[in-house]
Amino acid sequence: MTQGQHFLQIPGPSPVPERIQRAIDRQVIDHRGPDFQKLGHEVLEGIKPIFGTTQPVIIYPASGTGAWEAAIVNTLSPGDRVLMAETGQFATLWQKLAGKWNINVDFLPDDWRHGVDAAAIEAKLAEDKSHTITAVMVVHNETSTGALSDIAAVRKAMDAAKHPALLMVDTISSLGSAPVTMDAWGADVIVSGSQKGLMLPPGLSFTAASQKALAASRTNKLPRSYWDWQEMIAFNAKGFFPYTPASTLLYGLKEALAMLNEEGLENVFARHQRLAAACRAAVKGWGLEILCLDPKVYSPILTGIVMPAGHDADAFRKVALENFNISYGAGLGKVAGKVFRIGHLGDCNELTLMAALCATEMSLTLAGVPHKAGGVAAAMASFTQDNKKLRLSA
Ligand SMILES: *Cc1c(COP(=O)(O)O)cnc(C)c1O
Repeated sequence: MTQGQHFLQIPGPSPVPERIQRAIDRQVIDHRGPDFQKLGHEVLEGIKPIFGTTQPVIIYPASGTGAWEAAIVNTLSPGDRVLMAETGQFATLWQKLAGKWNINVDFLPDDWRHGVDAAAIEAKLAEDKSHTITAVMVVHNETSTGALSDIAAVRKAMDAAKHPALLMVDTISSLGSAPVTMDAWGADVIVSGSQKGLMLPPGLSFTAASQKALAASRTNKLPRSYWDWQEMIAFNAKGFFPYTPASTLLYGLKEALAMLNEEGLENVFARHQRLAAACRAAVKGWGLEILCLDPKVYSPILTGIVMPAGHDADAFRKVALENFNISYGAGLGKVAGKVFRIGHLGDCNELTLMAALCATEMSLTLAGVPHKAGGVAAAMASFTQDNKKLRLSA
């Protein structure tokens, strides 16, 4: 189907707003010249408040997976022991990546329907009297399930156990959509990417590093060159990069930061919560099950929906794509075929979400998936209940 707009309703990459498309659509420049230097300083400083930090934020021309690897190779040594929580597919992939660098991962098993269990982390750390665990590594928004973990609670658990491990957090799908407060969390490494809440195309990723993480990077034993923080930071101090940066994407980043600041981060986060609440109202209206079982950690970024037994999520997604030109996120890993995901992040508003929910309700009918009518109506009611104005007039 080619008429009209495609509805890219996957939880990243999220649609790139016109303003960002225009900002990127330009000639490349000399990345050792004064125009680049100005841009370099602007984005390297401007990104810090989005991470809730005053520490350096390193920008790589890479997907989020590159930043995962950078976090590991800059802080850990072969044979190190780390603690991770199996929140879903992304936690599982990060664990596998660590294994390839000969890091021993204590992987706290979970059912992919909850956030990080801070009490389980505290218990593990309390057992580790000789402090052999060098890092706790968790995913903030588990994009494969739709659970936004409480990172402050993880920090509290580490403090309660009086454990000196580094705290590393994957915020690849939460940054720019939910509060990421590196310094307040006491996080040591924050990993992120461009193509989700920041509304950019894929191609940039980030690691923010605390003084403690930077100290670790001066003595750790994993080899690296391309990912090396020290070299990056030395160049970044002058507004430059050690190798050719993705300069056009950095112009896009500058525009994304302007958009987030114009709306105001608090308003951005509130909008995501409002959209997520409407999406969940629709799922409940259809009588379907939300994958995340803990309302305290419902994700503002995406909603995972469990298909009724005997119905294939991928067959449903195909019906929706062919009939209504819409893409949902597929079920990943353990929940492949059993789950689909509706993204409501980045450049998404009430009507784009309503269109997606209309397509969902119609596709459930066309695909013969048992459900109740009225999900769409429930989502609309969620937006208009209490006669609340959604936006204050300027
Ligand atoms: C998307 C995502 C990743 C992977 O990022 P890539 O850009 O695909 O390498 C990792 N973690 C989370 C939580 C994600 O949402």
